[in-house]
Amino acid sequence: MNILEKSQSIRNHEKTASDNLEGFIKQINKVNPKINAFVELKTDEAIERANEIDGRINKGEKVGKLAGLVVGIKSNINVEDFHVTAASRTLENYIGSYDATVIRRIKAEDGIIVGMTNMDEFAAGSSTETSFHGPTDNPRAPGRIPGGSSGGSAAAVASKICDLALGSDTGGSIRNPASHCGVMGFKPSYGAVSRQGLLDLAMSFDQIGSFSMDAGGIALMLNVIAGEDRRECTTIDWEVPDFTASIADSRNALKGMRLGVVKEFFDVSDEPIVNIIEERIHQMQEAGAEVVELNFDYLKLCLPTYYLINYVEFFSATRKYDGRKYGERIEEVCGEEVLRRIHMGSYISQQEYSGKYYKKALQARSLIRKEITGLLKDVDVLVGPTVPKLPHKVGTQLEPMEMYAYDILTVIANLAGIPAASTPAGDVKGIPVGMQFQAKPLDDEKIVKLMAAHEGLN
Ligand code: GLN
Repeated sequence: MNILEKSQSIRNHEKTASDNLEGFIKQINKVNPKINAFVELKTDEAIERANEIDGRINKGEKVGKLAGLVVGIKSNINVEDFHVTAASRTLENYIGSYDATVIRRIKAEDGIIVGMTNMDEFAAGSSTETSFHGPTDNPRAPGRIPGGSSGGSAAAVASKICDLALGSDTGGSIRNPASHCGVMGFKPSYGAVSRQGLLDLAMSFDQIGSFSMDAGGIALMLNVIAGEDRRECTTIDWEVPDFTASIADSRNALKGMRLGVVKEFFDVSDEPIVNIIEERIHQMQEAGAEVVELNFDYLKLCLPTYYLINYVEFFSATRKYDGRKYGERIEEVCGEEVLRRIHMGSYISQQEYSGKYYKKALQARSLIRKEITGLLKDVDVLVGPTVPKLPHKVGTQLEPMEMYAYDILTVIANLAGIPAASTPAGDVKGIPVGMQFQAKPLDDEKIVKLMAAHEGLN
C-alpha cells in the first residue's frame, strides 16, 4: 500500500491510526537498536495522539491531511518537549520550547510525530558519522553510511519504521541520504517552505524538506508544509500548487518533457552510477521525454564557493552557543568538523575588510546561479546522478576534501536556490543509487510530477 492509499484507508475506517502506529512501534523496537535512526522516541504520547485521531474518525469528524501517518523529525528542527540536540553535545540538554512552523502545520494536519532522528553534528556532514549519538547504519547496505546529514530520517523511512520524515538540506543533506538509502528526498525551492524553528547551518542555503518511499508521500507532505510564513522573512508568498492532485495525472507527464542532461555531472561520477542513470534516462525517453544535451562550465567552482559561504554563515550562527543560554560553549564540546568550520569561518570573516574570500565567493555564487538558471531556460528539468560515488563503510577515515566530494552535484541547487530531489534509480550490488532532478525556482511541482511519472515506469 502506498502512502496516499494508506491515508485513505485510515479515513475510510479500513485501518486505524493506532494500528498503523503500533505496527511501527514494533518495528522500531526491533530495528532501531541496530541502525540508530531515531535518537529520541515518545511512543506513549504518540499512542495517545493516534487514539484521539481514531476517536474523531469514528465520530465522523473532520481530520487533517496527515491523519494517522507516523512522522520522524530531524534533530535540528524545534519540536516542543523533544530534545533538539542537532546531534551535538553543545545542545545535549536543550529541549524544544516551541514548535517550528513546519511542525505546527504537521500537527494541525494530524500527523503523529513519534521521534527525533539522527544526523551529522549541526548538519555539517554527509555521512551521519559525526553525531554525538553515534553513527546510523544504512538499512539497505548494512555496514555502510546512510549518507547525511539527514541520515537518520532517510534510514527510518528506508527501514519502514515510519511513514514520512523531515530533513534539512543545505548542500544536499536530504538528497544525499535519500540516494544512499534508496528512498525519495525532496529539497524545495529556497523560500517555498518556512525555515522558522530550524537550527541554522548556513541560512542562505538551508531548506526543510521530506523523505518518503513514494511520490505520493512527498506530494502530501509538501501540501502540508509549503507556503508563506509571516514569521519568516525568507519565505515567498507563492501560489502553492495542490501537489497530490498534480501527481494524479502524472501518467503522461513524460510526453514532451524536456530533460536537460549536463555532461559534466556524468564526468565526475563513477561508472556504475553513470550506467544506471543513463539507463533511466533512456527509459524516460522511451516514455516520450526529449533529451537535451547541455554543458555547465563552472562545476569546479561549486564546492569551494559553497564551503566558503557555509563556513562564514555557520560561524556567525554558532556565536549564540557561548554557554550562557543553550548549555555548553560550542568550541569546548563539538567535534572536529564543526570546529574546523568555526575556525575557518572566523578567519575568513576577519579577512573580510580586504574582500579577499567571502566577497569573491558571493560573486562566484551569482555566476553559478545565472548559469544554472540559464541552462534551465531551455528545459523543464535537469536529470543526473545525485551523488557521484557509493557510500563508504562506516568508520572509514576520509580527508575533509574527500568527504566534501560527495556534495559536488547537490550543492548547485542550494547555491542557486532551485528545487531538487533524489529518487531511487537502481543499485550497484545491492547498494542504492539515486537520480537527481532539478528545476527552475518555484517549479517544485514539475519535479514532483516527474518523480511520480518515473515511479510509474517501474
Ligand atoms: N555535506 C554538506 C555540508 O557538510 C551539506 C550539509 C547539509 O546539507 N546540511 O555542508
